[in-house]
Amino acid sequence: MAAKIIDGKVIAAELREEMKGEVGELKASGLTPGLAVVIVGENPASKVYVGQKEKTCANLGIYSEKHALPADVSEEELIGLIHKLNGDPRVHGVLVQLPLPGHIDEGRVLEAIDPRKDVDGFHPVNVGKLVVGEETLLPCTPHGIMILLERAGVDLKGKEAVVVGRSNIVGKPVSLLLLSRHATVTICHSRTRDLTAHTASADVLVAAVGKPEMIKADMVKEGVVVIDVGVNRLEDGRLVGDVDFEGVKEKASAITPVPGGVGPMTITMLMRNTIEAAKQQRVPLQL
Ligand code: NDP
Repeated sequence: MAAKIIDGKVIAAELREEMKGEVGELKASGLTPGLAVVIVGENPASKVYVGQKEKTCANLGIYSEKHALPADVSEEELIGLIHKLNGDPRVHGVLVQLPLPGHIDEGRVLEAIDPRKDVDGFHPVNVGKLVVGEETLLPCTPHGIMILLERAGVDLKGKEAVVVGRSNIVGKPVSLLLLSRHATVTICHSRTRDLTAHTASADVLVAAVGKPEMIKADMVKEGVVVIDVGVNRLEDGRLVGDVDFEGVKEKASAITPVPGGVGPMTITMLMRNTIEAAKQQRVPLQL
C-alpha cells in the first residue's frame, strides 16, 4: 500500500489563510494580537526560528516585537524584561526562544511568563491544565500534530497510539492529547525494552526522538498512520526525520514527510495561540 502523504505545508497554509481573516476582523474591532519574542545570545538556529516567527506574524497582520539580549545577560535582567512584557497591553503572547545559555535557569524563566501570555504552552499552570483536561494554551508542536491527524480524517477513539520520545515539549504533551481523544497510549523512550514490540502494535505512531531514520519498515504494521516529528540534518546536508520515509511509506496508510509535515504546523499553532491569548485578554466592554 502506498501511503497518503499528510501535507503539513498545505494544511498550515489553509489554517493561516483562516487566521488572516480572523486577525482582520479582530483589528477592525480594535484588537491587534501581539507577540513578543525574546532571544538570548547568538545561536544561529534560534535566530532563524525567531526570524520565521516575525515573518509569519507580519504575514498574518499580527503585531510582533523582538527583544535580543546578549549571551551574558543575567537571569534577573531577563526575568525583569518578562515582567515588563507581562504588563504590556500590546503584547498578548510572550515567547522565550530556547535553549537559553547555561547560566540561566530555564524553568525559572518560563515560570515568570504570565500563564495567559504563555503562547508556547510550557508554563506549569498550562501543563497542569492540559493534564486535567481543562481548556488552555496548548504547546505548539503537539497541537499541530493533533490538527494534522484531524484534517487527515484519522479517528483516534480506541486506537493504539505509540509515542516514541517523552520530552516535555513533544512526547509527553502529545501523549496527553492523544489520550484525551480516547486513544490507548504507550510512551516509549531510551530505556524502553524491545521498542519494536511497541511500535509494531501502533495504529498511530508518533516519532519524536531526534535520531535520523531510526524507525524502519520492519518496526511498523501495515496501515499505520505515522507522524514524524524528527528534524535531523545529515552530513550530506539532507534534512530527514526519525522515520525511514521511503521504506515506511510502503506499509503506512498515511505519513507526514520531513520537511513539510509537522514543521510548518508548529509556527502556525504559535500564531493560533497568540490570537487565542489576545481574545482571552480582551478587556470586557464596560456598558
Ligand atoms: P528530546 O531530545 O528532548 O527527546 C528525545 C526523546 O527521545 C527522549 O525522551 C529520549 O528518551 C527518546 N529517545 C532517544 N533515543 C531513543 C531510542 N533509541 N529509543 C527510544 N527513545 C529514544 O527531543 P525533542 O522531543 O525536543 O525533539 C525530538 C525531535 O523532534 C528532534 O529531532 C527535534 O528536532 C524535533 N522537533 C521538531 C519540531 C518541529 O516543529 N518539527 C519541534 C520540536 C522538536 P529519554 O527521555 O529516555 O532520554
